[in-house]
Amino acid sequence: MNTQEVIELYNQYVIGNYGRLPKVIVQGKGNIMIDLEGNQILDLFPGWAVSGIGHCHPRVVEAVQKQAAQLLHMDNTFYTLPQGQLAKLLSERSFGGKCFFCNSGAEANEAALKLARKYTAKGKYKIITAEKSFHGRTFGAVTATAQPKYHDGFMPLVPGFEYVPFNDIQALTEAFDEEVAAVMIEPIQGEGGINPATAEYMHTIRNLCDEAGAVMILDEVQTGMGRTGKWFAYQHFDVVPDIITLAKALGGGVAIGAMIAKPEIAAALVPGTHASTFGGNPLACAAGIAVIEAVEAEHLLENAQRMGDYARSKLNELKAKYPIIEGIRGIGLMIGIQLNSPGAGIVSRCLEKGLRINCTQDTVLRFMPSMTITAEELDRAIAILDEVLAEEAKK
Ligand SMILES: *Cc1c(COP(=O)(O)O)cnc(C)c1O
Repeated sequence: MNTQEVIELYNQYVIGNYGRLPKVIVQGKGNIMIDLEGNQILDLFPGWAVSGIGHCHPRVVEAVQKQAAQLLHMDNTFYTLPQGQLAKLLSERSFGGKCFFCNSGAEANEAALKLARKYTAKGKYKIITAEKSFHGRTFGAVTATAQPKYHDGFMPLVPGFEYVPFNDIQALTEAFDEEVAAVMIEPIQGEGGINPATAEYMHTIRNLCDEAGAVMILDEVQTGMGRTGKWFAYQHFDVVPDIITLAKALGGGVAIGAMIAKPEIAAALVPGTHASTFGGNPLACAAGIAVIEAVEAEHLLENAQRMGDYARSKLNELKAKYPIIEGIRGIGLMIGIQLNSPGAGIVSRCLEKGLRINCTQDTVLRFMPSMTITAEELDRAIAILDEVLAEEAKK
């Protein structure tokens, strides 16, 4: 089959709910993906932040192969080694919480929302989330996602949600009352355009939740697992949340989600209250363990920090050259390039030249390279972007 034939297969048999770029990817290795024609593409957005330590990291591949041969799946009627071990590793690297495992970011957020309502006192039900947030596509998660474009056509949504502008302390304070069960935000909004929370905002959420007996939930589905140079983005702020949610990079390419909750809150999820058939299966958990081991053995937190700073300094040089760039935002390897006009054409031109990046919110180019990215790879990426921006500037 050639590329056109695969595209026709999709057109006939796959629901068209994604806008896809016209390439068939057959292989991934580190920061490179290879298409059906054998072209190599430098991937600065691997797996939409899922391949956080690069495509097919050898440690993950080995762990998955070994686990697949031993025990692919076991239901939660029993105990398995990988689930317990992964929970311990996550707990020790965060705030000593307990884990619930599922299969995606949306499911992790559903678990957090349900737990917040179950745990808080009678009469509390309201969930406050921020404008431009992204929390997933299931009904609870999409209701939490305070962007009208994701709600259009799906009304009525889940009751009891309230939206406030991100980083607006006054609006949040005014929205608080005795009925609030939880606040849920991303420490750095990803899909919303790489918008970091301010330290003051994070502390305000913590204080308001403490005063009201509400739960502070951080959605770390995109920011988690080291991308920002720390295991979890909240660790850049001097706050401890009650619950964090994870997915994307957690399995290094294998589907897995997790919620970590403080033990006293987690205790509300007694048998019968919540579950996931595939959640915490040995295959996914073995992959998660391998990711954590790889990050530590290869010092990838340090690399994420260093390469993030390097990329931002290089991008600031481009900013000085091209007026289309208004600003560079982000922490570690979560980088947003604010343009003053739409970026979709730039993404397409970069891909034609062998570089994959992303654009979100129309005008924000997004770099989320793997934590294994090197300075040479970033140089190559920035040289391509430079070329494309130079062409754009001539138009
Ligand atoms: C991707 C994402 C989700 C949704 O994850 P799925 O695995 O697609 O359900 C939720 N929150 C954030 C911050 C995300 O980036």
